[in-house]
Amino acid sequence: MITALGGGVGAAKFLEGLSSVIENETLNVIVNTGDDISLNGLYISPDVDTIIYRLSGVIDKKKGWGLEGDTFISLNSLEKFDLDTWFNIGDKDIATHIYRTYLRGKGLTATEIASKIAEAFELPDNVNIMPMTDQDVETWIQTNEGEMHFQEYLVKRKMKPEVCRVTIRNIDHASPAPNVVDSIEKARAVIICPSNPIISIGPILQVKGVREALKTTRAEIIAISPLVGGVPLKGPADKLMKGLGLEVSSAQVARLYSDFLDTMVIDVEDAHENQKIIDTGLKTLVVDTVMSDKGKSANLASSVLELI
Ligand code: GDP
Repeated sequence: MITALGGGVGAAKFLEGLSSVIENETLNVIVNTGDDISLNGLYISPDVDTIIYRLSGVIDKKKGWGLEGDTFISLNSLEKFDLDTWFNIGDKDIATHIYRTYLRGKGLTATEIASKIAEAFELPDNVNIMPMTDQDVETWIQTNEGEMHFQEYLVKRKMKPEVCRVTIRNIDHASPAPNVVDSIEKARAVIICPSNPIISIGPILQVKGVREALKTTRAEIIAISPLVGGVPLKGPADKLMKGLGLEVSSAQVARLYSDFLDTMVIDVEDAHENQKIIDTGLKTLVVDTVMSDKGKSANLASSVLELI
């Protein structure tokens, strides 16, 4: 059994490669839910859906999120009701959010819902998509222009406000979802996907018991840096790290995980950071981590598996 921790886009790309090279071994994916948002009466869980869409082969590969060939007619129609239309929900994609919201109304948990959505998208039986917690949590960003939901900062405000602080609301009351701790304790390897360390991996690590399980598990723990050439390929990892007073580097990402990590995987473009990471007592692997297609993510996954 292999367990992975991840957010959306970067994690999904890596997991597509990983799932293609592990044959029938169980793959448990603990997914960030801090990005979840309730909009216009619909409950949206972007990271869970991004991973499911990618693993079922229906994702819009160019964008890295949403469904291939989707249109936005219903979203445009919402404008006349003066509803929020800044969050891009496609006409096919909206069905997932209606289904999730409907099941929440019937009292199903995030875990049960993720598993029903994964089943509808025909994910292989050996892959389990596990929201990190069944309690609702939300990532809020404090900026020089006020505090806002992470999605508002990312999508509506296009990462323009300056970040001062990140808060995961309700995280103190969030228990790990069923099997989350067990999956970390019993895995032969735990892989921290190339995801944003602050708003994707960070919230998972803050769920009660998760960091402790990572520290005590006998599994080999490997993280892949989401930075290439010292910058994120997409998204606000650099802005968030800078805003929190952290150095923007793979060595810094390694430091954030150093209390439980065994090996840090960094890109060839960041090879100059290798010695610095080794000096902190970690093992390293320097490879091409840019997953521009499925073959390249499978190659990266194979190199990671060779470390175990
Ligand atoms: P989000 O929740 O959708 O933002 O998804 P993640 O946190 O999983 O992914 C965002 C991170 O993935 C960014 O910091 C990107 O730099 C990283 N990322 C995306 N594609 C790649 C890739 O091909 N290689 C590496 N190393 N990182 C990537």
